Formats: sequence, C-alpha cells, structure tokens
Amino acid sequence: MALVSTLIPESCEPKSLEPGFYIVATPIGNLGDVTIRAVDVLRSVSLIACEDTRVTGKLLKACNVKTRMQRYDDHASESVRKRLIETARGEPVALVSDAGTPLVSDPGYRLVREAREAGVSVTTIPGACAAIAGLTLSGLPNDRFLFAGFLPVKEKARASVLEEFGSVEATLIFYETGPRLLRSLAAIADLWPGREVSVARELTKLHEECRTDAASELIEHYTAHPPKGEIVLMIGPLTHIDKAVDPDALLKEALADMSVSKAAGKIAKATGLDRQTLYARAVELKGQ
Ligand code: SAM
Repeated sequence: MALVSTLIPESCEPKSLEPGFYIVATPIGNLGDVTIRAVDVLRSVSLIACEDTRVTGKLLKACNVKTRMQRYDDHASESVRKRLIETARGEPVALVSDAGTPLVSDPGYRLVREAREAGVSVTTIPGACAAIAGLTLSGLPNDRFLFAGFLPVKEKARASVLEEFGSVEATLIFYETGPRLLRSLAAIADLWPGREVSVARELTKLHEECRTDAASELIEHYTAHPPKGEIVLMIGPLTHIDKAVDPDALLKEALADMSVSKAAGKIAKATGLDRQTLYARAVELKGQ
C-alpha cells in the first residue's frame, strides 16, 4: 500500500482518452505491481466494468481513483453486454477483473469478442498474470508452454484433461486451489511418476513460495504442510524427466501386476523413455 502511494501521484488530471474498451491488468497480490499506465487509464475512463465492486474498490482507493464502477461478468445478460458496448462506442470504458489479467480464466471474452464485431475499439494495458509469474519462478522449460486454466474437479475429467495435454511437448500450466492440490498431484504422480512438477503459491504476497520436484515428493510435502492460498500448478515436458527417476524401479513396480509389454508401455508413456529399450529391460527384470 505504501509503495502504491509513493509511486502514484496523489492526484493528477484525467487524460483525454479515445472511446472504446481498455482491458486493464491489476496486481495478483502485491498492490505495488499496479502499473502507472493502469492507474492513469483507470482515472481517465468514464466507467470501470469489474467482477466485484468491493474487490476493485480497494484497489481504486489505494490508487486514489474515483471513477464509477459497474459490475460485469460473462454471465451478464445479452442486454447488459450490448449496453456496455454501446457506452464504449462513445466513451472510454475500462474492464478489470478481481486480480491479474482480465480474460485469463476471468470474465471478458464475450465482451471483447462482441465489441470487436460491433466495430468498437479494444486496447490492452498489460500487467500481472499468475500463470506467467509462476512459470518464471518454476525453473521448468519456458520456451514452449501451454496454459489450460483450472483442472476439472471430477476425477475422471481431470485425468482425461491431463492425458489430453500430457503428450504436448511443452510445460503445462494450470490454475489450482489449496483443497484440490493433493488430488491433482496424485493424478499426476499416477500418470507420470518421472515428470517434474512445480507448485507456485501466493505469488507476489508475503508467503510466496515455489517448489519444483517429482509429484510424489510434493505430495509428501503438502500432506505435512496443507497448502493455503492461491496456486499455479505446472508440469514439465515429458522429455524433461527428473534425473532422480529410476526406470528399473518403475518397471519392477509395474511388473508386479501387469505383463512385460503393458509395463514397458506404461513406463514409456510416464517417462518419455524409449518403449523398445524398456521392453528389453523388462524382459531381463522378469527373468531375474
Ligand atoms: N486473471 C488472473 C491472472 O491473470 O492470473 C487469474 C484469475 S483466476 C480466477 C484465479 C486463479 O489464478 C487462482 O485460483 C490461482 O490459481 C491463480 N492465482 C491468482 N493469483 C495468484 C497468486 N498470487 N499466486 C498464485 N496463483 C494465483
């Protein structure tokens, strides 16, 4: 809070802005991450569309912004959206979400799509986004990444989403909650015991932490220390296998209740290692 007030002038004349939508990113925890341009725009628009006026109200107060707010989310009726779009045709209107970048697992998609179709200008004021902040801390490869929002709550749906994206050669990024983290880690451990997984928690806040390890190790840690707060869950690419993985140990475990062929297939899928090589090794292990 102190940082915000020292960086942002107490008052400054609102700028004259062109009509249209201004998609404004806001902090994901630390108010000091609000950008100077975001404050400028929020002070200068004639209306701020937001998910929750109480949440956005706190940010506006900290930044000395007095602009009128209106509640908006993608469940708003067609007529509310149309009215907002018509307002933005004649005046500058900001769209913010509770935290971070609007539209990223947050409202705004329909509004932006329909505004563009209606020929209303849309511009963006970029800033914090938890997915990107988590990725930069994880130590996982970041040359290719795939953000897939929240994992489904139901076990079957979650496993099928993990399997669907699991073969993509990229770091996978999901949003997660404390109460569901252990179940998601268990599903990951089951599918890919060898993949590196990263949990980034409470980013930019007092208790920020980021742990990168095998899913089984993370399960051990978070069973002992139940995770609180907001979480980004990331899974390293299949080719980026944890060096600690012991294919022999995995094969032995699999051979306990499946055929050589099935065990080789399962461990190849879990680790990205060559199936033929694993098959030959499984035959040896079976004979021992
Ligand atoms: N639009 C936001 C963004 O740009 O990151 C995300 C909104 S989504 C509804 C909220 C989810 O983002 C949380 O459940 C959590 O998974 C993640 N998240 C938001 N803030 C976070 C933070 N400070 N640390 C870790 N994860 C965070």
